[in-house]
Amino acid sequence: MARLPTLFVSHGAPTFALEPGRAGPLLQAVGECLPRPKAVLVVSPHWITREIAVTASARPATIHDFGGFPDALYQLQYPAPGAPMLAETVMALLRDQGYPATCDPERGLDHGAWVPLRYLYPDAAVPVIQVSMPASLDPHSAWRLGQALAPLAEAGVLVVGSGSLTHNLYEFRMGSDEQADYAWEFVHWARQAVRGHDKAALMDYLHRAPHGRRAHPTPEHYLPLLVAAAAATPGGEVDVLEGGMSHGVLSMESYLFH
Ligand code: ZN
Repeated sequence: MARLPTLFVSHGAPTFALEPGRAGPLLQAVGECLPRPKAVLVVSPHWITREIAVTASARPATIHDFGGFPDALYQLQYPAPGAPMLAETVMALLRDQGYPATCDPERGLDHGAWVPLRYLYPDAAVPVIQVSMPASLDPHSAWRLGQALAPLAEAGVLVVGSGSLTHNLYEFRMGSDEQADYAWEFVHWARQAVRGHDKAALMDYLHRAPHGRRAHPTPEHYLPLLVAAAAATPGGEVDVLEGGMSHGVLSMESYLFH
């Protein structure tokens, strides 16, 4: 099977599941254009553990891990199968590389996984597993984790880092059409760094990006970008999926790394 690209996807707020905006159709087109993957592996900031864990349920539940959103969101399901055999393979791959990884047979899919997957693969027919983010993850270890997962892209697995290109929830304005200039400045910087394969800049975003700290008061929604970039072919083409800005400050921009 040919090597698959890797994907960084901005999942924004859970409301993205009900409001596709510009980003939904772009993700749907990616799902339609790519060769059908054997499985999807998602690294999401909504599953953080001390040591790395891998979902191993054959029928992962849809987890509604958010509060205070419209009722309709809690009715949504994403009934994709799991991939217990692949979970074993991933666990072995991670252990070989020094991670004390374990399988979690109970854990379902968090909204960082299922919200974008409903656009990518609306038929929910491609098996999905998640790999947790270690609580200690920083830019260097995120890059190493991406490299550790790279062989899976060779084996027909779509490796997805799910986060948000900007993610300041203190400034979140539900449904706002007013878009923050600083968030756009960060997006344009990131787009250039990603296209230019500027690993050093991407790793040092807090110092080098305009408003790095304001765009990401905490790093967990940024680090999946590094995981996806590191799992990709070095120097490969990058497609920018210009998903716009939601709720004033949450960039919906995603990147497909060929
Ligand atoms: Zn999130």
